[in-house]
Amino acid sequence: MTETSFWAEVCKNFDKAAALTEHPKGILEQIKQCNAVYRFAFPIKRDDGSVEVIHAWRAEHSHHKLPTKGGIRYSLAVNEDEVMALAALMTYKCAIVDVPFGGAKGGVRIAVHQYSQGELERITRRYTAELIKKSFIGPGIDVPAPDYGTGPREMAWIADTFMTLSPDKLEGLACVTGKPVGQGGVRGRKEATGRGVFFGVREVCSVAEDMRALGLPIGLQGKRVAVQGLGNVGYHAAKFLGEGGATIVALSEYEGAIHNPRGLDLEAVVRWRNETKSLLNFPGATNLPDRNAVLEVDCDILVPAALENVITIGNAPRVRARIVAEGANGPTTAEASDFLVKKGALVIPDAYLNAGGVTVSYFEWLKDLSHVRFGRIGKRFEQGAFERILSALQRVSGKTLTESEVRLIARGGDEEDLVNSGLEDTMINAYQELREIQRQKQIDLRTASLVSAINKIVRSYSDLGIFP
Ligand code: NAD
Repeated sequence: MTETSFWAEVCKNFDKAAALTEHPKGILEQIKQCNAVYRFAFPIKRDDGSVEVIHAWRAEHSHHKLPTKGGIRYSLAVNEDEVMALAALMTYKCAIVDVPFGGAKGGVRIAVHQYSQGELERITRRYTAELIKKSFIGPGIDVPAPDYGTGPREMAWIADTFMTLSPDKLEGLACVTGKPVGQGGVRGRKEATGRGVFFGVREVCSVAEDMRALGLPIGLQGKRVAVQGLGNVGYHAAKFLGEGGATIVALSEYEGAIHNPRGLDLEAVVRWRNETKSLLNFPGATNLPDRNAVLEVDCDILVPAALENVITIGNAPRVRARIVAEGANGPTTAEASDFLVKKGALVIPDAYLNAGGVTVSYFEWLKDLSHVRFGRIGKRFEQGAFERILSALQRVSGKTLTESEVRLIARGGDEEDLVNSGLEDTMINAYQELREIQRQKQIDLRTASLVSAINKIVRSYSDLGIFP
């Protein structure tokens, strides 16, 4: 458990933003509070026959929109404070990117690597059954997703348990997102959070005025990136940023950190780690003194993508990145964030930057409710229409395209194209909204993102007639 209360940090940021709005105090208090927390314990049988008690949580922060939505974390550091904070961030995140859900989060206090696959399956299925008993899961109630320590495999177990216990629910698969594609998942979900980080950072780097203020050139090309944590978010963020023209100069994992100012080949590093079970001693790179040194490396963009409270007032003065791109939830304490902003750095806040996961989860939920793959109905029709336009243009212009050119131009969008384009559009639009608030109020981006979230949540309460 980290010493700083994550919940207190989230509330501090909320209060700062709330003070800049004119909404009644009571409404702001209602938005801030965590609506419901279910804390429970259950036994599982270990492979050696012994029985162990597992501690778990599910927090639903805001019911202003239903279902609530948020990942499930498996980690020894899970506690009630953390789950509530993460659930609150989910509420704000969904509002910022206009995804119509309230926020939630789940946690199971286990060290994943100490359990066999069979034991993890028993834990996940029992966790799901406990949520069902108390109505803390369901397509219209509360819809979990992956987070730290969980992935598509766990989501498939959750869906299967839910469907087994509720066989009459036609929309049952929509009880959880982040599932494997063959089990009702959507193409692009696994990569979505990291891809969203890329779209967000690219958008930020495209604003000439802001780059000038940071003393950086426009665009991603050649920008030096350091990434903490090579899990789902960190790996995909590094991959897409690298493909977008940035140079990955430092990477870290649990066992340590490596650095090469000329650039690291991400795939080669991943292969090296799989073979040697460590990032360290990667050919051509230097081992940094310890894993946290990645946060202080000389770079333009730092992507913390592991856990919360890693940039504190203790190490913030040594952070050299001009842009801190929060892939993880809550990696920077409120005090450290203010310090970095005062120092002239740009902090792209978690609640905006890692919202790609929940955005694509929303697409998956819609797909499961409608029982139809995106692109299935329209793809062929679109292709036919494009082909007719092209053939008319060729006739009028007297010019002819090759067959492969026609195929490329006239291609209808398939599921992955549509999902990625919806994600790109969401990240671009949300950033433009936040930047406008930031510019108008002359505030930092995190506070702007929370002002945006608060305004939207108040509006949805007013639409319901709950508040004046
Ligand atoms: P993950 O379990 O896939 O990966 C996290 C990685 O970080 C692991 O490989 C772990 O070994 C590594 N790590 C842990 N502590 C570290 C340290 N001190 N230094 C370096 N590496 C360390 O988890 P994830 O899904 O990528 O989540 C990472 C963060 O992103 C979390 O804060 C999570 O809440 C947030 N997030 C995840 C998603 C998602 O879709 N998975 C969406 C939004 C936000």
